[in-house]
Amino acid sequence: MKKLLENLPEKLKDLIYQAKALGEENNLPVYLVGGFVRDLFLGVENLDLDIVVEGDGIKFAQDLASKLKAKIIRHKQFGTATLILEPQTKIDIATSRKEYYPEPAHLPVVSPGRLKDDLFRRDFTINAMAIDIGKNFGELIDLFGGKRDLEQKKIRIMHVLSFQDDPTRILRAVRFEKRYNFKIEPLTLRCLKEAVKKKMLEVIQAQRLRDELILILKEKYPLKPIMRLKELTGFKFLHPHLNITKKTYGLLKSIEKEINWFKKNYPQRRTLDSWLIYLMGLLDALSIEDTEIVCKRFVFRRGEEKRILSYKNIKKSFIKELSSNKIKPKKIFCLLEPLSYEVIILLKAKYKNLNLQRNIQDYFEIYNGMKIYISGKDLRKLGVLPGPYYQKIFTKTLEAKLNGKIKTKEQELMFIKKIILKK
Ligand code: ATP
Repeated sequence: MKKLLENLPEKLKDLIYQAKALGEENNLPVYLVGGFVRDLFLGVENLDLDIVVEGDGIKFAQDLASKLKAKIIRHKQFGTATLILEPQTKIDIATSRKEYYPEPAHLPVVSPGRLKDDLFRRDFTINAMAIDIGKNFGELIDLFGGKRDLEQKKIRIMHVLSFQDDPTRILRAVRFEKRYNFKIEPLTLRCLKEAVKKKMLEVIQAQRLRDELILILKEKYPLKPIMRLKELTGFKFLHPHLNITKKTYGLLKSIEKEINWFKKNYPQRRTLDSWLIYLMGLLDALSIEDTEIVCKRFVFRRGEEKRILSYKNIKKSFIKELSSNKIKPKKIFCLLEPLSYEVIILLKAKYKNLNLQRNIQDYFEIYNGMKIYISGKDLRKLGVLPGPYYQKIFTKTLEAKLNGKIKTKEQELMFIKKIILKK
């Protein structure tokens, strides 16, 4: 184990040694746990350190944050804290705890416990290993056969009631299975199917399900877990009318292609919320009303709901206009500029009309974000009195620019002078 830790990037190694030193100073047992340990064995890069302390985790997190000069977010009710070091690196720190579920699919009752309890409360054996970074630095603690399951590529629950206690684990099982190309082992699969049969996914708090669904849609290849979910659970848990048909699958495939097209051609533009495009693709067959119900029930953020509904509200006439080969650049701009990139990529994925494809491409190439150089100050200098006429001039200038008639600031000024003279 020590060797694996030694081979980590310097930045991570340093963090681990700082945590080790702090544990020693305070005589606290400190462990690396969860996904970080799993990925260390798999040789997969993981910049999220997950630390468990047998003792006061919050105090340990505060001390480590001041030592590292890191930002800290405390979640006191859970006895956990997150240290943010850089946008790419964070450390989750928790007090080791025991959990029990008084009722299936409800939140557990939590109390401080030993490391063993903390590992036992986890989702799968592959996520339930720890590495001592205290006294026995580098020692693996594998009480439930996690390493064997990693080697045999198996997703295995810790006990038979696991999915009933917390049905979000159904989505997690599918996510890890498809991410690592593992298999959900037979008993785990039986328990999963039993929980589905008991409709546990419909009992659980919708927001918790939403968070796990988003994690699935954020996977590098979300189609694989989506299709596995279709097979194991279906998507009625999102909405009773929702079915993933061949058509939906075709759309999702096309979304994948268009997201790659966008990333390849416009790497300098804002990062796409790809998961949202996949979600809109999943919900494509639902009516506006049903989509609204989904948004409300799963409490998507305002900006997310807005984008989902703006797509749903696109009229046939809009598509017809965008599919015309005679459309003016100004029109392309007016149709697409109010929409988000996510919605535009989805349109490109859904409608295969060649004119529409070209118009969207032109929009990204030429018109998106086009602005004029001229400001109100320039108009005042030309002697135009401030008032609603300003907006008219700006609109006409932008239109001329979109249509390729003018390009530079000088050309804009000449153009405006002509408009003023004509008045
Ligand atoms: P990823 O690589 O996707 O971040 P991760 O394993 O780090 O995977 P997190 O969601 O960050 O996943 O969770 C950290 C750890 O917390 C997991 O490895 C697992 O041990 C535990 N965990 C998370 N969610 C659950 C759950 N619903 N039930 C039990 N344990 C969980």
